[in-house]
Amino acid sequence: MSRELTSCLFCGQFVLQIPGWTSSIPSYRLMRAAWEPQHRFVEGSLHFSCLRRSDVRHEFRSEFHSIATGHGREITFESAGQEHTLEQPGLGYTKSLFTGTQCEIYRSEVTDSWLVLEQAGPWFLLDANQLKEIGEGRPARSGGDVERIALPKDPGPELASASLSELLEYLRLDAVHKGLEDEAEAEYEFWDYYAPKRILEYSLETSLPLPREAVEFLKDYLHRYEPINFDEL
Ligand SMILES: [Zn+2]
Repeated sequence: MSRELTSCLFCGQFVLQIPGWTSSIPSYRLMRAAWEPQHRFVEGSLHFSCLRRSDVRHEFRSEFHSIATGHGREITFESAGQEHTLEQPGLGYTKSLFTGTQCEIYRSEVTDSWLVLEQAGPWFLLDANQLKEIGEGRPARSGGDVERIALPKDPGPELASASLSELLEYLRLDAVHKGLEDEAEAEYEFWDYYAPKRILEYSLETSLPLPREAVEFLKDYLHRYEPINFDEL
């Protein structure tokens, strides 16, 4: 990933991907910056705390909402003096289940997967296992796979033994992720580091910081939802 794609769309700082605290918008989503005069396409990473604080969070959320809860929206744009029309691939969370003051919850109608979309912008995707964790009164855990990312600068030999807080402090992300230590119950593991290219391999599993009202709704919902019957699709 280029430096631009690993920088936060809002604050410009490096984004270490942390499930529930960060995300990315890949170019194939064809998301547009409706809050900018040129409506350019948005591509890159973001800290959720920066999105929550941003003046354009509602416009950002509105664009993301259209993509997440739809599929195949046609968008037109101008490039080199010509008008083009493209079909925007949506995430297909089409069935609305809950609207609250902090978030909305949607369900995919083709897989057992749910979207929790905060009113302030950030979002969380849940699978059936995570739904079960919530139903049993446990936090929904996410991540745990090995990730590879190019760090913005070489942290030196201490990296191998650094804790997650030390890593975040070193990357100057401790303020951006304030509260993560208390809420995330993070399990961070250092795997490898390739100094010439500053490639860090790590795994990180966290508890998703879901809004309280989402947890309450999903706890009850778990007992009445019907899994997707693939034979009937
Ligand atoms: Zn940021």
